[in-house]
Amino acid sequence: MSRILVTGGAGFLGAHFCDRLLEEGHEVLAMDNLITGEPDNLDEFFYADDFTFHEHDVTEFIHVPGELDWVVHLASLASPEFYSDHPIKTLKVGALGTHKTLGLAKEKGAKYFFASTSEVYGDPEVNPQPEEYRGNVDPFGPRSCYDESKRYGESLVRAYRNEHDLDVRIARIFNTYGPKMRLDDGRVIPTFIQQALTGDDLTVYGDGSQTRSFCYASDLIEGFRRLMESDVQTPVNLGNPDERTINDLAETVIELAGSDSDIVNEPLPPQDPKVRCPDITKARKELGWEPTVSLREGLERTMDSLPTPD
Ligand code: NAD
Ligand code: UDP
Repeated sequence: MSRILVTGGAGFLGAHFCDRLLEEGHEVLAMDNLITGEPDNLDEFFYADDFTFHEHDVTEFIHVPGELDWVVHLASLASPEFYSDHPIKTLKVGALGTHKTLGLAKEKGAKYFFASTSEVYGDPEVNPQPEEYRGNVDPFGPRSCYDESKRYGESLVRAYRNEHDLDVRIARIFNTYGPKMRLDDGRVIPTFIQQALTGDDLTVYGDGSQTRSFCYASDLIEGFRRLMESDVQTPVNLGNPDERTINDLAETVIELAGSDSDIVNEPLPPQDPKVRCPDITKARKELGWEPTVSLREGLERTMDSLPTPD
């Protein structure tokens, strides 16, 4: 059994990942500064002997007593709404936070896992996006604080692999959703679910023809585990290749929620990517991984996980 540090542990994916690791019998140290994360996400783990929570900002020096087998760096501002509100913190956690966590892994002789993103491809000119695609990111654009911090993070991970022989994994994560997401985090699925369940109109930005491909949380976490168990030291796309327009998503959420909500169009945020879909050939081949939960099933499970109103 391994001793694993998970930064961003109180966030959406962090909490699912801690859950999975504890279930497998590992010792988990979750670290988070709670800038967007919710301690409630971890409530169910506090009973576990093998779980500890460490409130800490990973852009500051990280001290962890004892040995570590893995450092898993998930901490980031992750929603476009949050990273636009905190561009400097976003750049710092992708740059300084990645540097500090890499330094910790080197010190402990631990393996290192980096949560990168499909946003390294920016507003892509090829669709779907294979790992070889180098992307279309505006370095001075409104999303650059996030995109460039992750691109820099990947470069730093590669440098630690090459200079210090660190054993590294890089997941390029595409849009993922599920229980434990903050309904107010601004990302499209929690926003639409909240709107549909309260009878508000669903706010589709632009004409809704832009596409995304949505992966259910448990599928992604299975991908994380397979990547950790592999020896692939280069970036791997993890996401669901079932590409949908945002209009299609809005209609599906309204239908599944049995809602009377309408759809209203609001201005498209500048440089919102027009398409996004993972080419998962590499994950299929190298990890034997592909998603299994359909969008409808995942949306139903997500809605079922919400507390019923009094
Ligand atoms: P999230 O916002 O739910 O969780 C991120 C966590 O990081 C939060 O709990 C936040 O408090 C914490 N954090 C931020 N800055 C920190 C700092 N300086 N020190 C310590 N903790 C800090 O996001 P998520 O959806 O769970 O995403 C997890 C990781 O996966 C992120 O790195 C994100 O960029 C990446 N990712 C997620 C998606 C997705 O669709 N969910 C897609 C691509 C990439
Ligand atoms: N979006 C939308 N309405 C919302 C929130 C988002 O139409 O209330 C759109 C957004 O413009 C983008 C897509 O949904 O085209 C996905 O947005 P999200 O913020 O979830 O993540 P992104 O993939 O842009 O990082």
